[in-house]
Amino acid sequence: MVNFCPSCGARLGEAAFVQEYWVAQDRHVVCWCPECSVMCTVVLGRIVGTEPEH
Ligand SMILES: [Zn+2]
Repeated sequence: MVNFCPSCGARLGEAAFVQEYWVAQDRHVVCWCPECSVMCTVVLGRIVGTEPEH
C-alpha cells in the first residue's frame, strides 16, 4: 500500500483517494494527494518480485 505521496511526501490518510488495480503482473496504485492535489499512479509490480512467491 502507498502511504505517502510520491510528489510531496505528505501522508496519505483517509482524505486521499487510493485505488488499486492490476495490469498483467504489475500492481498499479492510483492515489490522489489532498496536500498537493497531484494524482499519480505508482507501479509496484517488479518490486514485489524480490519477495518469495507465496
Ligand atoms: Zn502530495
